[in-house]
Amino acid sequence: MFATMIANVTIIFIPIYLYFRSNYAIADIKQLSFQKWLLFVCVESLVGIALVYLSWDFVGIPVDSRILFFSISMTYFGWKITIPSMLLAEVVHIFHTGHATMLVGLVTTLLFAWSLYFVAKLAAKRFEAYGQLLSLVLYNAVLKTVLVYRTTQDVQRTFLFFLVIVTLSLLITTGMFMQMADLRILRERSDFDYLTRLLNVRKFKERLTTLDKVSHAHVSIAVLDLDLFKQFNDTYGHDAGDNILWGVAQVFAAYSSKNATVYRIGGEEFAVIMVGMSKKEAEFFIVDIMDNVVNRPIPLNREESVSVTLSVGLAFSREGETLHKLWKLADRAMYHSKENGRNQLTVAPTE
Ligand code: GH3
Ligand code: MG
Ligand code: MG
Repeated sequence: MFATMIANVTIIFIPIYLYFRSNYAIADIKQLSFQKWLLFVCVESLVGIALVYLSWDFVGIPVDSRILFFSISMTYFGWKITIPSMLLAEVVHIFHTGHATMLVGLVTTLLFAWSLYFVAKLAAKRFEAYGQLLSLVLYNAVLKTVLVYRTTQDVQRTFLFFLVIVTLSLLITTGMFMQMADLRILRERSDFDYLTRLLNVRKFKERLTTLDKVSHAHVSIAVLDLDLFKQFNDTYGHDAGDNILWGVAQVFAAYSSKNATVYRIGGEEFAVIMVGMSKKEAEFFIVDIMDNVVNRPIPLNREESVSVTLSVGLAFSREGETLHKLWKLADRAMYHSKENGRNQLTVAPTE
């Protein structure tokens, strides 16, 4: 039984790997591609099925970790992935065991899946991820305990079962949560700039390399440098300078979308990679960002606020040229804007 339990725990940790490998977060649920969804559902169903076969015996009652697994999935992946996976796992399980009451099995699973969804939704309103996980785990333990009591009609055994199931679930859930939290922090630190929370220069270069491998068509790069930023530091101090950088980054962040990603590539230097935008669209987009930055003074304290301007260089992809080269062209155009008096956009010549 001990070996089976270890196997259960090991398998339950698979979604952590999946979660970080895919870079998926529950906030992205609307943007989830069909392929990714299918992959998640297949993997989760397989894990669900494996857990059925790895069920262990407790005082004559078979116990499996499926619901614990799906509770974790509900918290981190959302219902769109969890509910179909639960159903698929149940269908395969029923087919394999040749259950006579297939409909009952399916309806029960569906009802249970929905109840899990509502408990998760309720818990999400009140708690952070850990609280959500605990709520689901407790809900699951109570349901299971009721079932055990109905089967055994034995209060002592039922109580013992409840204690064991709650303790085990709590241990697994806590371990899972800690690992998720640690990995999330590691990812945050490796991908994002600590001050502005924008993606960092490492991610910027990585993206250029990735895009270079796929295609260059309709890729534009803009390099945006804050004008005379040193003067802000000299006048108001370094902390105020940090505050200004953060304020400007908030404007940039509002422009981040599927087609446009903003990075902090240097101290007071930023870059935008635009994919699938025409030259005109990219130019309008950048001009709009510039206007927004200029027209949004950043408060330094109760009395004072400052406006910053940007010098920008914009370059469009060309046949046979790498995006690293395109970045250099945008950078050169940005310096042209500086030399020409700052607070302006220079578009790199296309030929
Ligand atoms: P230009 O218009 O030519 O770009 O002038 P500039 O003053 O913006 O450019 P310069 O390269 O001379 O100075 C950049 C300044 O940005 C110097 C540096 O202290 C400041 N800086 C870089 N990173 C940070 C940061 O994280 N926080 C703060 N407060 N200042 C920073
Ligand atoms: Mg500057
Ligand atoms: Mg600079």
